[in-house]
Amino acid sequence: MNTQTLCARCGSTIHKELPASVNVRVAPEKKAAVLSGELFLAECPVCGQRQLLTFPFLYHDPDAQLMVWLGADEATRARASSVLSSSPEMQDYRIRLVDSPGELIEKIKIFDAGLSDIALELCKFVTAREAGEPLTLKFLAIDSAEAALHFASPKDGKMEVLAVGLNVYEDCCGILARNPALEENAKGPVQIDQAWLAKFFD
Ligand SMILES: [Zn+2]
Repeated sequence: MNTQTLCARCGSTIHKELPASVNVRVAPEKKAAVLSGELFLAECPVCGQRQLLTFPFLYHDPDAQLMVWLGADEATRARASSVLSSSPEMQDYRIRLVDSPGELIEKIKIFDAGLSDIALELCKFVTAREAGEPLTLKFLAIDSAEAALHFASPKDGKMEVLAVGLNVYEDCCGILARNPALEENAKGPVQIDQAWLAKFFD
């Protein structure tokens, strides 16, 4: 799909060829461009400004039985639903909706690390509550040596790395096991974030 957008700095038109989807079994070489965000970046030919584009896009990892759809609007939700009902083996898939490239990248990192994104959102919720302030956390990686999860956390215009003990994550898995309604609700296309979680814990 060829698209055009306006440069946020100088107003020039930026043309960019955008893929509708990436299947990482078919094209494993494209995964790095997704994870680095390069796939979503458009560069202005006049002033060099780089900006992130949000467009309808599907990340598909058949080996992980994972689909992440960028564009959490009704049209995307409907397309994801029709894919889900298209064959019985899709029932075992995790189908997630996100509304920014950053969230898409985070989902891939979470599932690549073998974690549950629901338990991870619980982990963010618990961490913010203990800190006594609203935190915007994005999962980065597991640090096995430190037995911790690392999150990116913006503070005073800078990005800090916040370490949360793996024991907190394990406690959240326990909460998840005691609240089966969460997993039930996550079958089918769903946007799992703090707003989703708040529907269960308020
Ligand atoms: Zn420009």
